[in-house]
This record gives sequence, C-alpha cells and structure tokens, in this order.
Amino acid sequence: MDMIVTPKVIRRTKIVATVGPASESADMIARLINVGVNVFRLNFSHGTAAQHAKVAARIRKQANICGIYVGILADLQGPKIRISSFRDGEIELSAGDPFRLDLELADDQGDRRAVGLEYEELCSSVSRGDTLLLDDGRIRLRVDDVEASAVDCTVLLGGILGSRKGINRLGGGLAAPALTTKDLTDIDSLAEVKPDFVAVSFVSSEEDIFQTRELLNQHDLHPSIIAKIERAEVVSDDHTLDGILTAADGIMVARGDLGVEVGDAQLIGIQKDLIARARRMDRVVITATQMMESMINSPMPTRAEVFDVANAVLDGTDAVMLSAETAVGKFPIEVVDAMSEAALGAERHPVARTSRYRLDREFCSAQETIAMSAIYAANHYENVRGIACLTESGTTPLLMSRLSSGRPIFALSKLAETLQKLCLCRGVVPLFFDAGAFDHDSVEARAIEFLVDGGYFNKGDSLLLTKGELMGVSGSTNIMKILPVG
Ligand code: PGA
Ligand code: MN
Repeated sequence: MDMIVTPKVIRRTKIVATVGPASESADMIARLINVGVNVFRLNFSHGTAAQHAKVAARIRKQANICGIYVGILADLQGPKIRISSFRDGEIELSAGDPFRLDLELADDQGDRRAVGLEYEELCSSVSRGDTLLLDDGRIRLRVDDVEASAVDCTVLLGGILGSRKGINRLGGGLAAPALTTKDLTDIDSLAEVKPDFVAVSFVSSEEDIFQTRELLNQHDLHPSIIAKIERAEVVSDDHTLDGILTAADGIMVARGDLGVEVGDAQLIGIQKDLIARARRMDRVVITATQMMESMINSPMPTRAEVFDVANAVLDGTDAVMLSAETAVGKFPIEVVDAMSEAALGAERHPVARTSRYRLDREFCSAQETIAMSAIYAANHYENVRGIACLTESGTTPLLMSRLSSGRPIFALSKLAETLQKLCLCRGVVPLFFDAGAFDHDSVEARAIEFLVDGGYFNKGDSLLLTKGELMGVSGSTNIMKILPVG
C-alpha cells in the first residue's frame, strides 16, 4: 500500500541573501542553501572582482552538491556619493556644530570641522536650506551657505560619523550617471561570475538599463537586469518609472537609499505601488534593506521586523532581501530561518492566495492566456494541488507567478539558466526535468511520476500541466490539461 505523506509546505516568497565575510565559506553557503536561500547577492560595493568570481564558483558548486537550484545576483555599486575619510577614522558631531563639505580638502584630512568629497556637482546640486543626510540618515545637516567648492552646514542631528559614509539629499537630486568607471570594469569581470541577475544601482532612466544590457551582451552574458529604485526623482515620475520597468526584467525596492531620500513615512505607500506595478508589468520585484536588521547582533527578530517581512509578502513581493544580516551578521542561518517563518506565516493569509485574474485586461499571447487560465483553474478547483509547467524560456511560469495563488508552480526544464532565473519568482519551484529525453507519448506520465517521487503530490490529487505542442520551442505554450495523479 502506498504511504500517504503530507505534501511538503513550500515557501512561495523567495529569499535573497547577501554574501560577505560571515557567509562566504563553502560550509556556510551549503547551510544557507539548505535553510532556504534562493538567490545569493554579491555586493560589488565591497570586495574585488576576483573574490566575487571565487565566491560565485563556490555557490555553483555547493548548489550542485545540495541538488537545489539557486540564483546569483551581481549588484553593481553605482554612483553612491560618499564623503572622504577622517584623519582619525571617525568623528563625533553634536547638534548645532558647524560642519563643512569641502571639495578641495584632501581625501584623508577630514576632522570635526570639515570633510572632503569627490562629487564635483555638489555645489550646483544643493541650495541654502536643504537637508543633507549622512550615513543613511543617522546624521543630518542643514545647508547654510554654498560656495564655489564647499558647502557650509549646521548639524541638525549629531552622532558618530565614520569615513566614506554615504550622503543623500532629502527629496533627492544628488545624481550622477548610473554606470561609473568601476561599474564598467566590474561588468567586464562578470564573464567569470556568470550571474543570473545583474542589479544596477541608482538607476535614473531606461537608458541606464539599455546601456548595461548592451555591455553584458558584448560579453555574451544574458542575465535578468534588476533596476534598483533608490532615487526620489524616479518614484515621483510615472513616465520614467514605467520606462525603467519596461526596459528591465525586474526591480528592487531599495529602501535603504530611497527611504533616506523620501522619508520612511512615505516609503510604505511607495513600496506598495512599486510591487503592484512590477507585477502588473510582468516584472519580478525584490523588497530590500533592514528587513531583519536587529538580527545582525541578535538571534531573534523583533515583532516589527517579522511584520515588515509579512507586509512585503502581503504586498505581493517576489523576494525579500537580507543585507548586513547575512553578510556580516552574527546569525546568518538563524536570520534566514526567521525570515522564512515570517514569510510562511503571511502566505497563509487569504490576501496572499487570491487574485483578480486581470479581469480588466486583454491578454497579449497564447502563452499569457494559458498562464492566467491555469492559475484561475488551480485556485478554483480544490483537487488541483499544483501546476507543472514544461518550459524553455521560463516565461510561462513567470507569467503565472504574477497572479497570487496557494498552488505551487513547478517549472520543469533542462536549462540551468532558465531554472536559476526562476529562483526569484514567487511561487515557482524550479526543477530539472528533460522532457526531450522521453518519447512524446510518455512525457506527461514521466512528469507526474517525477513530481510524486519528489514528494510534491499524492495519489488521488490532480495536477494541472501546461506545455507547448512543439516541445522544446520557447514561447510556444498552448496546452493546458488537468491530469489525475496515480
Ligand atoms: P545597497 O542597495 O544595499 O546597495 O545600498 C539597497 C538599498 O539602498 O536599499
Ligand atoms: Mn542603495
């Protein structure tokens, strides 16, 4: 007699974990994969290209050993504007102190009164009365006077200020071209990393995305491009935002820099809008930064952090991201576990499982029509325990995952690049299955057998299968079937 097992609870929301000193050993990478990391972020703001290539190879190797697909995201530094260094490493500022940002001060000559800066446009980008935010808003300055090559300020909010901390202007406007010389060199080095995703920082227009894609293509690299939304002027302009979404494959709600520029109180609405927009436009979306910040030093999240993750899940995000928590924190494994629990908790809520099925839209292709119909059917027919999607390019499962559902979407493909990109899509379980290895008449039975063996279905369930008549041809999905299991 067959044993009835409870099918595995599969987390739909994906976890992106930043790799750093606390997590880059082979052992830690293996543990992180097993505890549920779906995508590893290599942060090019730190480390050398050679180090990143080495870590990327290590991730691929460990994923292989674990038998689990994971994606690699290369996050380019971009034009983050930073102050220069202090003679003594850091200074302390108190409210009311005068403080000067001086383009002519040498790099390591900063002190309590002034610090250097390498941003030539500073004086033309700020005016008297502006608020400048240093170190993610921990220090606030008011601009009192703008000279030819220096800006005089008064400290509004004091504290310790370290060397090379970021500087933003409240309301945005400190802008430089998205791809810096360093980014261009880093893109050249990506041939070694072979990332599944490349994130572009401080994107200001679709041009930044076109340029990045063009450069990557020159190296014969075709990763998904993620536009980091972290400038106030981008979120306040629908036209620019839609252009960026159309050009990119996905976005990151980069709450660190964006939150500093627009203020956290505004950020909640912006997050909801960005996530909804991305899904509507068939793009993936990552919600990032300080999701479980307290776990850098503590083995347990605060309730507010659990609720922050849960809220992003209810907003419909594909993925939630960990930064310092896994890069330099004391509890990398525990934080992934806590994030996973928080996401699973939120996914039980009906809001996370129901959809409006694009009732107000015309579909654009057979593929989209099948994808939307499949989710509609799966959500309404209790017996359908999951969707199996035979796919080449991954487009059909991506489209399916733009609607909410409680049913897992099993993306079956023989292409590692496709499966790794799907690691970011909510609700999609990427699995290696080479439909071409079986004769045409037995593929469906083989797919069912494969999913039952994997513990994903029981006898007596039904499975919804989608495929193209011409199997192995990308974009050809035109068949949907409901099949009994067993
Ligand atoms: P960063 O991007 O961690 O590279 O700054 C994310 C953010 O700004 O939130
Ligand atoms: Mn940022």
